[in-house]
Amino acid sequence: MFRLLIWIALIVAAVWLWRRLKNPAAAQPPSQSETQPMVRCAHCGLHVPQREAQESAGNWYCSTRHLELGPRQSDQ
Ligand SMILES: [Zn+2]
Repeated sequence: MFRLLIWIALIVAAVWLWRRLKNPAAAQPPSQSETQPMVRCAHCGLHVPQREAQESAGNWYCSTRHLELGPRQSDQ
């Protein structure tokens, strides 16, 4: 009986290892999609997630309103 349990444990471990070696990408937790890249609004300087930001001419904006206003001049 005890020997049977050892065999079952060995088979489970072998299957787990084989699956892990076959596709290591699937075994990895999707942690990359959780962390959103943050971008800085060129107008007001607010940091917003890139997914929610508006992009224009290499600049990022927090909203369509700030995109229309354009980048704020920093020499004042
Ligand atoms: Zn803004």
